[in-house]
Order: sequence, then structure tokens, then C-alpha cells
Amino acid sequence: MTELAAAPVIAGPSGRDEVPLIETRNLTKHFKVGGNLSRRRLHAVDNVNLVIHRKEIVALVGESGSGKSTIARLLAQVYRPSGGEIRYLGRPLSVRRSRRDILAYRSDVPMVFQDPFSSLNPAYRVSHGIMRGLKLHRPELNRAQRQAEAERVVTAVGLTPAADILDRYPHELSGGQRQRIGFAQALAYRPTLILADEPVSMLDVSIRIGLLNVMAKLREDENVSFLYITHDLASARYLSDRLLVMYAGHIVESGPTESVLANPKHPYTQLLLSAVPDPRAPLVVDAESDKGEPPRVIDPTEGCRFRWRCPYAVDECHQVTPLLRILGPDHAAACHVAQPD
Ligand code: SF4
Repeated sequence: MTELAAAPVIAGPSGRDEVPLIETRNLTKHFKVGGNLSRRRLHAVDNVNLVIHRKEIVALVGESGSGKSTIARLLAQVYRPSGGEIRYLGRPLSVRRSRRDILAYRSDVPMVFQDPFSSLNPAYRVSHGIMRGLKLHRPELNRAQRQAEAERVVTAVGLTPAADILDRYPHELSGGQRQRIGFAQALAYRPTLILADEPVSMLDVSIRIGLLNVMAKLREDENVSFLYITHDLASARYLSDRLLVMYAGHIVESGPTESVLANPKHPYTQLLLSAVPDPRAPLVVDAESDKGEPPRVIDPTEGCRFRWRCPYAVDECHQVTPLLRILGPDHAAACHVAQPD
């Protein structure tokens, strides 16, 4: 079995020696729970080390409360980390920066939310949000250039005729069209990385694939990377190059998407995969299936956070928190009993 690495394993690909777009080092976020005098802390994210390179689509999967949306908000600088750091193009974001630096970062790394209505003001036409964003983030453009750019980004996400779409109110668009406008708004900033937080989970299954194809096309045509946050392994498989699996604030498995799904090393990833329903299979009710015990992330004690649900737990799992170990090419898992290839 591979020895524990002296330095933390970074959840990233080998063979890419350029400076990553984003890199986190021991990224941590704890939230206070209880009253003002309380010392209790919810450990939403603990010691996460990950990298995302140019033109990569990385899927971050896990159940609700695993910490994946908190990571997105840390990367978007909506939350301040409790510990660790985020590096963008090799520079720590914690270094004191001007308002202009912060604006530039936010246009490089915008976020698209689960609910497309949250980024569209129902009182204004679609053009309003895009033009306002362009004015703020790309002040060098004049009015005619802003109009041309708004039409370009709306076309880039597959909505035509662009002028007609820009002239509509949000309620005149379908859910899928509104979510495409969310991507168009992000694209108008000329991003390097889009943080997409469950962007298709509120859409009908039949139109999700169209949105996933838009993201794949933007990666090719606009050189954009994505952090695709989802609890849906099927869409992660369809879209992503790499998969990061989160449980209770930790990345518990990482690797090339096909490798992780074909040969999951961590019992939690195995559980997620076994829970994907096959619509053609006969319905079998398994009384012993996982009961979905919520993770204990308020002042967690040492030990594996999955041990309360894990069928393979041994004594060590109750005493020692497992670290990510390399178990195959670019494939790592944080489990005491997981075996290498
Ligand atoms: Fe299960 Fe132990 Fe591995 Fe955690 S470390 S997943 S409890 S076997």
C-alpha cells in the first residue's frame, strides 16, 4: 500500500506544469453555531487542497451539507476562509488588494447559481443585467460595443435571435433559457473559470443535457474552465474531466472521472454510485440500504467522518482521520482500508 504522503495530496492532474488557475491550500471554513458565547463550530470545509487548470471541467460531487457550495462561495470570495489560502494564477488572494483587483477577480471567476431567478431581476428586461455587468466589469466598452457584446454572449449560449431575447423579461423565458442567460451574464465578464453551483438541478431532466452541452461548448470556444457542483453523478460523468467527491467537509476521493466511476476507492463514492437508479432495472427494496445518517460536522472528533455509515470501518477509523493517498494514476482516496490498483 502506498505510504501516507508527507505533504498533502493535491486533488489535481499530473503532467500539467503550468501555474494552475486556482489552487487551494488547506482551505478551511468553520461557522459558529449557537449564541454569541458559544464555542461550537460547524466544520463546513476542512483542509481542502485542490487545483483547477485552464480549460478543465472539474465536478465537485457530494450530498447536501457536504461543503461543496461552501467551497464555491470561498472561491468566489463571498466567504472569508477560516484558514488556509486560495491562490489565483499563483498569487494568494489573501494579499491586501485594491477594489479594482477584487472586481477583476470577480469578473475572472463569476458564479452561476442553482436558481436562475436569483440572478435576474424580474422588473427589468434581460438586457439590463448583462449591460449593467458590462458597464461595471468592462468600462472600456462604449454603448454600441456593449450592445454587440451582449448579443454575442447570448448567441454563444444558444439563444437566438439575440436581440429578441435581450428585449424580453425573465418571466417570458423558460427555466432552461433563464439558466442560459445566467451563463451569458457570466460570459460577458470574459471569465477564466465559472463556478457553476448546481446549475441544472432545478431544470427538467429533458433540458439538462442542453445546458451541459452549452458548458462543454463554452470550454472549447471561450477557453473557460468550470467547477461544476452537483449531486448528480450522471451529469458529472457526462461533462467533467475530473471528479472530486466531498463528504462532511473533506475531499474523500479525487481522480479522472472515468477512473473514479469505473473503480471507486472510497466507500462513500461506492455508496453514491450504488444509489444511482437504473430506470430499466426491476425495483428492489433493500431494507439494509444506507439510512443516510447525517454527517457529524459540529466540533467533529478525530477519525473518519464517514465511520458512522461505513460498512468497512475498523478501529483505526474511529481514532485517526484518513488523509488522501495516491492509489492509482492521478487517483487518490482518503480511507484507511482502500487498496491501490
Ligand atoms: Fe470507512 Fe474507515 Fe475508510 Fe472511513 S477510513 S471510509 S470508516 S474504512
